[in-house]
Amino acid sequence: MKRLLILAVLALLAAPAWADNEPVEVVNYEIQVRLDPEHHMLHGTEVVRWTNTASAPTGELWWHLYLNAFASSETTFMRELGRRFLRGGPVREMHWGWTHVTAMSLEDGTDLLPQMSFERPDDGNPDDYSVVRVKLPHAVPPGGSVLVHLSFEAQLPKVVARSGWAGDFHLIGQWFPKLAVYEDAGQRGRPAAGWNCHQYHANSEFYADFGSFTVTVTVPEEWVVGASGVELSRRNVEAGTSREIQVTYRADRVHDFAWMAAPASLMDVVEEEFDPGRDVPAPWLTEASRLLGRSASELELPPVKLRLLIPHSQRFLADRTLLSARLGIAWYGLHYGPYPYPQLTIVDPPITAGEAGGMEYPTFITTGGSRWLRYPPAKWVPLVEMVTIHEFGHQYFYGLLASNEFEEAWLDEGFNSFAEASCSAAAMRDHLFPDVPFYNPWTGNRASILFRTIPVKVDRFAWAFRTRNDYSTASYPKTAVVLKTLQGLVGPEAFARAMRTYAERFRFRHPGGDDFIATFNEAVGADYTWFFDQALRGQKFADFAVLRVSQRKVGEPDGYEWRDGSWEEIGKTEESKPTPVAGPDPTGGETSGTKPAAGEHQAEGQKKWKVAVDIGRRGDLEGPVDVELVWDDGTREQRTWDGRDRWVEWTWTAPHRLERVIVDPKGVWAMEGHRENNYWSAKALASKGLRRLWWVGDALALVGLLALPWS
Ligand SMILES: [Zn+2]
Repeated sequence: MKRLLILAVLALLAAPAWADNEPVEVVNYEIQVRLDPEHHMLHGTEVVRWTNTASAPTGELWWHLYLNAFASSETTFMRELGRRFLRGGPVREMHWGWTHVTAMSLEDGTDLLPQMSFERPDDGNPDDYSVVRVKLPHAVPPGGSVLVHLSFEAQLPKVVARSGWAGDFHLIGQWFPKLAVYEDAGQRGRPAAGWNCHQYHANSEFYADFGSFTVTVTVPEEWVVGASGVELSRRNVEAGTSREIQVTYRADRVHDFAWMAAPASLMDVVEEEFDPGRDVPAPWLTEASRLLGRSASELELPPVKLRLLIPHSQRFLADRTLLSARLGIAWYGLHYGPYPYPQLTIVDPPITAGEAGGMEYPTFITTGGSRWLRYPPAKWVPLVEMVTIHEFGHQYFYGLLASNEFEEAWLDEGFNSFAEASCSAAAMRDHLFPDVPFYNPWTGNRASILFRTIPVKVDRFAWAFRTRNDYSTASYPKTAVVLKTLQGLVGPEAFARAMRTYAERFRFRHPGGDDFIATFNEAVGADYTWFFDQALRGQKFADFAVLRVSQRKVGEPDGYEWRDGSWEEIGKTEESKPTPVAGPDPTGGETSGTKPAAGEHQAEGQKKWKVAVDIGRRGDLEGPVDVELVWDDGTREQRTWDGRDRWVEWTWTAPHRLERVIVDPKGVWAMEGHRENNYWSAKALASKGLRRLWWVGDALALVGLLALPWS
């Protein structure tokens, strides 16, 4: 109880910080690094200032040494990976990678190396070296800072899981000793302040604090470099016989820094910009303005410099990539707030470095082209568009809303998959992808949860899923269709405003799932916890179906009736009585789970048919669903069933018969597993045809989505 009170007070104290929308600068890195291209090694020095923004002191610093995940076959990352597929295909030949911290000291010269110990907080694997803890001689009090000087060497692996080299191409991510996050009590539901530092897992991505980076990279003179942030300066240096360039970059208000280096003979550089006057599609502005209830000037977006590094052999993809980036900047900016950085750097890795493709870092993304995309039918598939929009979208769901990717991957991958599909669907609708003839971004997302034997739960630590495929399905498409369903349930305006509230409130913060759910409920003014508990926190499966439709002709009453103390043959005395019917009922003359009661359809006129419709819930997820009934005289009616019981039966005595029954006619339940059982038609052939069509569509979409080659 006391703890609850403290948490409540902390939550109140934390609340005003949301409003200012600026990051608290927790870390400040100054890094000098030289790439040895021949041995694919990094030699670096790093000065880190870390500020304790939590309310409790700490006597330790926890660091990620991510490259050590590639040190041997026995690391946690490699054990979890096994011999399975990674991103681009099976792991064939590893060229190992590692980091070695060669010096670490405080500002006053105190040597910290003896205080360094490897930690394995997740699995105790003694062969894993991806996390280190350093004990400090003095605790850092709340509000206090510590300055650490360190030197490191790193061997880059042959490109694996986003990082490494392929020939002369180098994609350098998760390459420097990087501080973990010291979370405060109350943050993401934490009972007490503490370091959140997980080992590098095959399925996990990252988590770090906001701050600034000043990074000077040294590479051969005739090479090109792309990096997070913006270029501050460059100069030529001579090191013995080799001529090199030093390029300095600065990135502010970010939580990571990645870069790329390759010979100019391999990579082309294309510089353009996002010009809001030209690049925001007019229908998108109108739509966002209506959904969010904000004026066009309130939704104004700033210009952004675009810098694309692309192999000469894939140069033909530059226009598609840049167009997709512009559309992404427009869509996400309109819906989730402006992209707040001056530049976006995009790297399209050469085909030999496919493992480096489809990845996001703050203000720096990688896509994944191939020369085969020049020719049909590959040319008609929106791979370039999807991956560019997806990776750009991570500037929001990961970059600005810096959730913990180790623990709640759905908050970045799932939200971003939803936003990516929404953006792509709008681009298709408005014919903005000139090279793509047909593409429905929702079909694939739906289909990937369809053929599962065991439903997957979304909310799990990244390495705690049964299989890698479960992790992907839960984190990407399942979350996307869960959000799509939520959008259908609350309505597009309420949904758009709630998402906007979440995106604004937690910009430059570390939101957790509870933060999202509380914000969403608050913003829509209704409690959707019942939905989140089943769809995200639980593993309930949604499947509504037409179970049975029965239509019988009402015959003339026959037999005997008890009249005046004796049995009389029906119809032989007086007039026969009409069939009893219940009064009109807006929610249906319905029974669920018990005996049927009569409803009424067009009570006037002669009643000829006894009609009964059974709607069932084959899945275990409970929720309201609309049902459309189409009668053979053309009248339509819509009913909503609360979907709590296993089935409901609606009955009528009516002058007409039913022509069609459609469960969820507007497709609100995007996360529904089996759509094909939602239809019933009086024409048996049509009914079967509809079902078959759904199966074929779903099956085709699944084939296209068996592997998710990007993060
Ligand atoms: Zn992603």
